[in-house]
Amino acid sequence: MTDATAPVNFLLVDDLEENLVALEALLQRDGLVCLKARSGEEALELLLVHDVALALLDVQMPGMDGFQLAEFMRGNERAKHIPIIFVTAGSADGQRRFRGYEAGAVDFIQKPIEADILRGKANVFFDLYQQRQQIIAQRDALAAYADQLKAADKHKTEFIAMLGHELRNPIMAIGGGLYLLKRRTDPVQQRDLQEKMERQVGHMTRIVEDLLDISRIGQGKISLKPEEIDLSTIVRSAVESSEPHIESAGHTLSVELPDARVGLMADHTRMAQVVTNLLNNAAKYTPAGGRVELVAAVAGDQAVITVTDNGIGIPKEQQGQIFEVFAQVEPTGPTLQSGLGIGLALVKQLVELHGGTIGVQSEGLNKGSTFTVRLPVVAVHEPAAPRPKGPPGVSEMPA
Ligand code: ADP
Repeated sequence: MTDATAPVNFLLVDDLEENLVALEALLQRDGLVCLKARSGEEALELLLVHDVALALLDVQMPGMDGFQLAEFMRGNERAKHIPIIFVTAGSADGQRRFRGYEAGAVDFIQKPIEADILRGKANVFFDLYQQRQQIIAQRDALAAYADQLKAADKHKTEFIAMLGHELRNPIMAIGGGLYLLKRRTDPVQQRDLQEKMERQVGHMTRIVEDLLDISRIGQGKISLKPEEIDLSTIVRSAVESSEPHIESAGHTLSVELPDARVGLMADHTRMAQVVTNLLNNAAKYTPAGGRVELVAAVAGDQAVITVTDNGIGIPKEQQGQIFEVFAQVEPTGPTLQSGLGIGLALVKQLVELHGGTIGVQSEGLNKGSTFTVRLPVVAVHEPAAPRPKGPPGVSEMPA
């Protein structure tokens, strides 16, 4: 990527050190770097590694003279567009000038040099070079932006296809349920069908609510109702909502809560939604009969909620992306579940709206995952009396 603010190089070529020093002093200004060569060969070496805005070449040098050097430069892909000003001693005759222009000169300057004129001319080339660098940088930025837009567009198209798919399944199930409902007369079968249809409606409602939440947060329109609330209360609400998922997958859930009442300034519903989402994902991305652990604790001035499963895990290289909207881990084997990739994006945004952070840790595929939410604590109320014996706050809930 071109850096439009990078210093501008210019090249001085003269066999006499005092001329190089004098020219450098004359042209030097902030943001310019002077490259000095005592011969044509040295100049070509410098041009192999540096981009140069202007070359000032002494015409008469022992060995390769200025004209020969200019011809070499014109034959070189990297150097052929560098503007060249020849510095000549005395008035160069017409023939020599012609040769100079043929070799690629843009100008001739005669010694003794008139400082202001040379400075003025050189500055035009430095400015032109800088403008060109800016244009190149803008072009690169636009190209990168266009690539991002293309990727986002592709993402969106894929997302719409996925959304269609996700909504079609419950709609088909509800349609089928309605059809059967008209034909079944047995009340037990009817209730069974109704429950199935209700579950599908619940699924669709969740998808639509998540989508609306994401767009509300994107527009800054989500309104939290923060109040001081106990960490354990939030966790219990979430566990209650997730239990059916965890049970139906045959997982074992263990929940560990702090002894103290840990006050958070949080929106109860939204925070419970965060933890529910993590528990549901743990259930969803763990093969049947797995283990899900939820630990809520205090560390310093933070409440820490971790949800750990022994499921399919997340490859390291994809862990950075899963909190982005529509992001899903590339399936490497048979997929356990479908999804839209909006749950974790919503979770992250809700956690951040509460002044917290979320992270994921997984040793890789089939190594399980741990999601950690950290939230600021506003007060810790230690319990009045020690609890009766038994591991405090630990419950095992085999499904
Ligand atoms: P969804 O589950 O609808 O695809 P999420 O945003 O909740 O969307 O999750 C994004 C992706 O992160 C999922 O598609 C899945 O690949 C991965 N993921 C989330 N939670 C877990 C987990 N506990 N174990 C393994 N992968 C997970």
